[in-house]
This record gives sequence, C-alpha cells and structure tokens, in this order.
Amino acid sequence: MAQHEERDLLMQTAHPSSSACNRLLQNVNLIDGSGSPAQLCDVFIQGDRIAKIAKDIDAKSCSADDCLDCQGLTLTPGFIDVHTHDDAQVLRDPSMLAKISQGVTTVITGNCGLSLVPWVTQHPISPLDLLHTTEFKYPSLQLYADAIQAAKPSVNVGALIGHTTLRAASMMDLNQPATHAEVSAMAALLSLAMQDGALGLSSGLFYQAAAAADANEMKALTRVVGQYGGVYVTHMRSEMDSIIDAMNEAADAAQAGRTPWILSHHKCAGPKNWGRTIETLALLDRLAKTQEVGLDAYPYSAGSTLLRTDLVDGVIQILITRSEPHPEMIGRYLADIAAQWGMSQQEACSKLMPGGACYFQMDEADVRRVLQHPLTMIGSDGLPHDERPHPRLWGAFARVLGHYSRDENLFSLPQAIHKMTGLSAKRFGIQNRGIVKEGAYADLVLLDPLKICDKASYDNPMQMCEGIARVMLNGNWSFEKGECTGLAVGQFLKRKSSH
Ligand SMILES: [Zn+2]
Repeated sequence: MAQHEERDLLMQTAHPSSSACNRLLQNVNLIDGSGSPAQLCDVFIQGDRIAKIAKDIDAKSCSADDCLDCQGLTLTPGFIDVHTHDDAQVLRDPSMLAKISQGVTTVITGNCGLSLVPWVTQHPISPLDLLHTTEFKYPSLQLYADAIQAAKPSVNVGALIGHTTLRAASMMDLNQPATHAEVSAMAALLSLAMQDGALGLSSGLFYQAAAAADANEMKALTRVVGQYGGVYVTHMRSEMDSIIDAMNEAADAAQAGRTPWILSHHKCAGPKNWGRTIETLALLDRLAKTQEVGLDAYPYSAGSTLLRTDLVDGVIQILITRSEPHPEMIGRYLADIAAQWGMSQQEACSKLMPGGACYFQMDEADVRRVLQHPLTMIGSDGLPHDERPHPRLWGAFARVLGHYSRDENLFSLPQAIHKMTGLSAKRFGIQNRGIVKEGAYADLVLLDPLKICDKASYDNPMQMCEGIARVMLNGNWSFEKGECTGLAVGQFLKRKSSH
C-alpha cells in the first residue's frame, strides 16, 4: 500500500472502534464487489480492517479472538445506498434498522437538491421539510459531521450538498434565477462544504423551490464542485415528456464544471413515456463517451414524492402515504377517495395536501432495462419520515438480490452486488469501502443467497427483509439475528481528495 494511501485511511477513521477485535470468517463464498465471480476462502479481520484473504487461514497463527464458520453463506462488502433522504434520520434514529437490516452500511445523504446543511431555520420550506422540520441547525458540514460521529449511527454517512438548500440559505425570492450576488453566496457556502469533505452537489430542478434556476446558476456551482473533484447528482427538471431536454441540461451543467454527472432514480414517468428508456439509455451511452456518467435506480415501478396535482393524470394509481389534513386517508388510493368525496382526483389531491404518495408511474420493462444497465447503481430513495412509506425504504436492496437477480435472472449475483458496492464507491469517490480486499475497511454482509428476499409491500411497507445473517460495520458486528447489536460506530466519510 502506498504511504499516502495509508495516511488517507488513517485520517478517515476519526474514532477507531475500541471494541473491535481480530476475527476470522472461515469458508465464506466471497463476492468482493468488483463484479468478479464468487470464490471460496477465509477472511481475517484485524480491528476495523480486512487484514488477509486466503484459503485455509490458520486461526492460531493469526491469533483470532473469534472464529466463525460461514459455510453456505456469501460474504459481500456492506452495501452503499447512494440515494437517500436520511440526513436527519441518522441523527434522530441512529439504529437505522430499515437500512442495516438489508445490509446497507453506508448511506449518501443530501439527494434531490435537499440537504440539512448548510441552513439554519425553524421553518424549512417545501420540499426541504421532507427531510424533517426541526433538524435544520447546522451552519457547516463540519458541525453536521461532528453530530454524526457523536450519534454513532449503524451506518457510515457521506453527504451531498443540496442546491435547493443553498438557494434557501442565500436567496430572497426562490421563484427567480439567482442574482450575481446570490450565485456568489451559494458558491462560497458550497466551497466551504467541499473543503469539509462533501461528496458533491445535488439538485432537484423538478421542485418549485429550484425550478427557476437557470444554466448560469447551475454551471457556477458545478464549477465549484469540479475544482474539488466532487460529483454532480440530479433529480432532473423532467422525468416525463421533456426528459431528453432535461438530460441534456443536466449533462451540460456537469460538463461545464468538469464533474461526473449522476442521474438520480432514472425513470420515464407517465403512460405516454413508457418504453422511452430505450431512448434515454441510448443518450446516456452517447454522453458517457465524452463525460463521466452514472445513474441510480430503485427496483419498483412506483415512485414516491410529495402530493402534487400536476402528477395526477386520472390514469395511474396513486396511493396516499402522508396527508396532514386527512391522516385517516393514508393507505388508500386517490381514485377511491375522490369517488367517496364526489369530486375529481385533482380536487381530492388538493384537499389532501400537504402530503405524500406512491405514484404507479413506471412501466416494468423500463424498470428492468434501467436496472440492467451497466452504469446503474442501486439507491433506495426511501423517505424515512412517511407514516406509511414506499416499500423501497425497507426492501430495495433485498429485492434487487432476491427478486431481480436470483428469481428473474436479470443479472448475476456478483453483478447485482457490484451495483450496490464497488461501482457506487468508485462513482462517489468513497475510498476503501464497497470492496472486500486486504487493507479495506471491514464493512461486510453475510447473506444467504437462497433466502434473501424483500418482505416490505405497499400494503405492509415496514417489514424487514429475510436472508441477511449478519452485518459488520468498521470491524464490529452491528446486526445479527434480526437485531441491531448496539456496537455500531458509523463514520462520517469525507471525499477522498479532501484530505
Ligand atoms: Zn428525487
């Protein structure tokens, strides 16, 4: 290992876990996260690192405190949920059971333009309130990172900075493009956050609070991100009829900043657009020849976001997940509610707002095509504060492994694992995680490939998946026998070039 790499590793672990010891995992079927096929071997873990991978490691010669025979189980890197809205959740409920129970050991926060940092307010505007209403209290990323370290969550956390948050912190009128002075103020905040180790910038031009942003505003910010080697992640302006224009707009902004572009939760929404992923993925492949491109997806044909009348077309089914004025309607379909109230679906939607819903807006063939694309990473996009969340929060990773890989044979298990580990770490600049190799951090999952399956459904969404035997986080078993062990010490992960 190069000396500077060693130093980076040391700097990434601010608080090495004291309870970690030397552990030997014997007879594992190792899928290392690179996409390579499985191999039978032993893995020796020293403290929070993987020290040795070989056949027949002798327990005595390596002075293991703990030997575990893992015959029949598959060992993989801990999964990286690249698309989360867990910014406040990791602090409010550090057990993070919905994630750790699926084998997720790292979450990336701040997606869709929405991050807690850097904005201090008691009255977050929509859609920032989707993250939570009382947690906007971090003027800098460093203070948020300190809070994460103190909370000891069951997952590591990497953070994107949200464009909508920067707007809320810097602008007078969000319905306008930013003025020159406001762009400068946003760029200064972003620059500080990048110095504190942010992974990059996210935007959500789909949402009202950011929709007025023009190309100048976006390019000024991607240039800041590019200077620090970060990524630009987008929930695009449109995932419906204008999706091609929206893709070109996002790719153009990324290219101006010389930053990799990551397309969030890729879908072609609305029956009129079903089948169009043939077109969008072809465009993505063309763009990937001249710039660095990535995308993420969740394995369901329903999306979930705020209740919005412009998403009510009278054709697709809409399941209410949250309604402030009418909580009694949570779990019911909008068409039934509209019929009961004797009004149109649009009128019923207005009456239920503010709230959230699952929109059955995708075609299954598109979902499969996107999941299969070699650049696609897995991200849950789960909304942890919905009373009755989309099942992706508790089931996304297990559903990719069980339903789509094993049962439907959409891709091999090593490929499925790669989409949630090695590919994700590389794309987001997370060093020495997402891969099982000597010297890497011991974030690991032991799973039963025959049993792994998602249990969360639209009717019963908060169900733990089956088939995850154990999860290790930074060298400690953090989840076993269906429960958190309480030994987790999740780290705040800084972008590798920020050291
Ligand atoms: Zn989004």
